[in-house]
Amino acid sequence: MLRKTLAEMTVRVLASRPVCALMQPVRRRCVPVFMLHRIADPVLGIRGHSLALIEQALSYLNKNGYTGISIQELVHALLDKRPLPPRAVAFSLDDGFQEQAQLALPLFERYRMPVTLFLATDMLDTQSWSWDYQLEFIVTRTTHKQVDIVVAASPFSVLLSDDAQKRHFIRSLRELLKTQPIGLTHATIDHLAHTLGVRVPSVAPIGYQPMTWDQARALESAYIDFGPHTRRHIVLTQLGDAEARDEIDQSWRRLQDELSHPVPVFCYPTGRPKLDFGRREQQMVGAAGLVAALSSEPGYVDLGRHRRNDLYALRRFGFTDNISDFIQYCSWIERAKELTYQRL
Ligand SMILES: [Zn+2]
Repeated sequence: MLRKTLAEMTVRVLASRPVCALMQPVRRRCVPVFMLHRIADPVLGIRGHSLALIEQALSYLNKNGYTGISIQELVHALLDKRPLPPRAVAFSLDDGFQEQAQLALPLFERYRMPVTLFLATDMLDTQSWSWDYQLEFIVTRTTHKQVDIVVAASPFSVLLSDDAQKRHFIRSLRELLKTQPIGLTHATIDHLAHTLGVRVPSVAPIGYQPMTWDQARALESAYIDFGPHTRRHIVLTQLGDAEARDEIDQSWRRLQDELSHPVPVFCYPTGRPKLDFGRREQQMVGAAGLVAALSSEPGYVDLGRHRRNDLYALRRFGFTDNISDFIQYCSWIERAKELTYQRL
């Protein structure tokens, strides 16, 4: 506890205005792009980021001389080699759930902090929900205390007696299914639902409901915009060429049909380079007329060394679960650490 408090105090001192003024050249041309997913809502049983922590982070940026820039501005700066304001920070949200529209976006608007929400467009078109959330739904709702299944020659024989066991099973099965063809993944989800005695509704139930196009249109503003994140939120490497291309092309088309200023920047579901997307997906995104794409690999977007940035795999930091780590990423400290590791 004492160690944690000391570490937090050190970050506060190192990230204070006078020290930052001195050390700013370290992170001068680097921008942290934060990646957020679901927003916690205990009433609906949604696990996710704390809204209070997001507010604390936005308030910190406003009070400490940071400038929020949109993903669009960031990409323009990369393409045109244009300078950005000092201490720039960018935010992205993935997926398009109801609570993101109701809780998170109005908060960004209130703090005048630009944010781009990447939408899996079938969620809005058909109120559908993706297999990874169906997996969570089945396992958290089952009354069975154990499960025995075999997936792609991997046996799962695990207890489901408490929350920790259920979470562990969800995580390990999800990681395995991401690497399998989508047909096998869907068949496994059906089989699991049957085995664990849970009915999976075709329309997303409460707690998994997506936002609507009307909400998206009402939310579009100088600070809030939207980008494509596939149709069905499927890991693209699980798909054949035609299906993968359709996921990219159609999600971008739907955004252009429904919204007034969609951002031509793609965001890969799950987003791990070489695992969830590769050369094939990057070329497809470019061919669809999209000018850049975001991965989930941690790191800064470096405007100082253009050759080091892959425009179709821009890096992001997962939004942290405490304010001290957030401050560290925004200040020069994390960048100094990154440079040190690069030299080792
Ligand atoms: Zn996503």
